[in-house]
Amino acid sequence: MLERISSADVAVVGAGPVGSLLALALAQRGMTVEVFERRHDMRKHAIAAGRSINLAVSTRGLAGLKLVGLEQAVLDQTVPMYGRFLHAQDGATRLLRYGRDDSEHISSMSRGGLNQLLMTEAEATGRVKLHFRQRLQSVDLSKQAMTFHDEDEGTLQHVTAPVILGTDGSASALRTALVAQTGAQVSEALLSAGYKELTMPALPAGQHGEHGHFAMYPKALHIWPRGRFMLIALANPDGTFTCTLFLPHAAGPDPSFADLTDDAAVLAFFTRWFGDFVPLVPDLLAQFRQAPVGHMVTVKTWPWTAGPVALCGDAAHAIVPFFGQGMNAGFEDVTALMALLDCAPKPYDWSALLAEFAALRKPNTDAIADLAVENFVEMRDKVADPTFLLHRAVEAELDKRLAGTYRSRYQLVTFTRVPYRVALEAGAIQLQVLTEVCAGKQSLDEVDLARAEALMRAQLLPYLARYGV
Ligand SMILES: Cc1cc2nc3c(=O)[nH]c(=O)nc-3n(C[C@H](O)[C@H](O)[C@H](O)COP(=O)(O)OP(=O)(O)OC[C@H]3O[C@@H](n4cnc5c(N)ncnc54)[C@H](O)[C@@H]3O)c2cc1C
Repeated sequence: MLERISSADVAVVGAGPVGSLLALALAQRGMTVEVFERRHDMRKHAIAAGRSINLAVSTRGLAGLKLVGLEQAVLDQTVPMYGRFLHAQDGATRLLRYGRDDSEHISSMSRGGLNQLLMTEAEATGRVKLHFRQRLQSVDLSKQAMTFHDEDEGTLQHVTAPVILGTDGSASALRTALVAQTGAQVSEALLSAGYKELTMPALPAGQHGEHGHFAMYPKALHIWPRGRFMLIALANPDGTFTCTLFLPHAAGPDPSFADLTDDAAVLAFFTRWFGDFVPLVPDLLAQFRQAPVGHMVTVKTWPWTAGPVALCGDAAHAIVPFFGQGMNAGFEDVTALMALLDCAPKPYDWSALLAEFAALRKPNTDAIADLAVENFVEMRDKVADPTFLLHRAVEAELDKRLAGTYRSRYQLVTFTRVPYRVALEAGAIQLQVLTEVCAGKQSLDEVDLARAEALMRAQLLPYLARYGV
């Protein structure tokens, strides 16, 4: 057994997007970093980068990338999405804009491309050493001593490090050690729905349609909302779409993965519910057979730290993907930690800094966890609901009347950096006002917009103004 004391300032466990960004940001502050990653180096081996092929990045994630000077490099590789493109069951479509104008959009990017870029940039600092195929097996928190299993050799090594940051994802081994050794509390709530990813191919070479080589309009997040389940699709720069079917795991009154046991059932299901989708994915049945069913979990933990050891990203706060904020929230962790480091005297009191970091983030990561679960209901169900659509129409009017000071909950989460907790609370105020002014109304003409404006001026704007919105 190899035993060594790391000569690096910080050890990071997990080289996913958050661990890689963290290592890069620390290195840019002059620190040396050792990163231990369970998987192969994805730049050399064709391995799946993780859960979803592509991701939506928005303002908070971009702020993290800007911090390390990579915002534009990443944006150059993305497809902008200006709104939700809804597909009704009868094939009718409509675009619901996300922001005030095209400057407010989210961007679809390759998870693997982003992760690889961050790893390469981290190594290029000369201060980051990445160790692959090293799986954290156990940790003695009192000694900051970690045991890694070499996944190729089958050997173990003990590494002791002065500071340990755990970015090892939603099933974090470091979190398991924290819970076992410090009495930290953890809750892991598994969603009753799972997901399967399918790829919609680009149009065949030489064939260009209404949207170039894309089979559908690329600059929107496509949603087929069907009540208790839904299908979504995000475009990739190569002309394909990554499509995700979210469906209950277990048999019940609604369709479920448990029902889709053979090709005939799968085809009948897609033909009935997603008729316009079927012709665009010629090998749908083969893909469906091969794609694994993914699970989604909300993890809440506290405390996240034990002296100079802390969790970050999904390891501390995995959330369901329906607000497109999991990675964005993890990048915001990095931004928040770097802001604290930048103000702290040297040598750093890591235990105090990490405790402050966790206390700052916890109410906000709890808030986005709850918002993400709520947004599942909104996406699969409410976007097709007349009340939801009326609320959105009133909000669009309020945006005009309130001269740009009104921000919907979605916009606060996605296009600003106000704390998630503030977005959650602002959303509760908005819902109360919208419910009141829309009660019993069928269309925008019937709504007392002056009253809606007065209520928002009295109740929402002073609250948002406290946070600089
Ligand atoms: C279907 C789906 C769609 C999503 N879409 C979005 C989106 O649009 N926008 C968004 O912001 N977020 C999205 N997310 C969430 C996003 O994927 C996560 O929040 C993000 O990947 C978290 O990054 P991370 O680095 O903390 O963890 P991970 O990406 O999970 O990385 C953890 C790393 O640690 C390594 N590791 C694990 N265990 C060990 C160990 N014991 N020892 C060493 N290494 C280990 C893993 O191999 C991995 O490389 C989505 C998630 C899902 C499931």
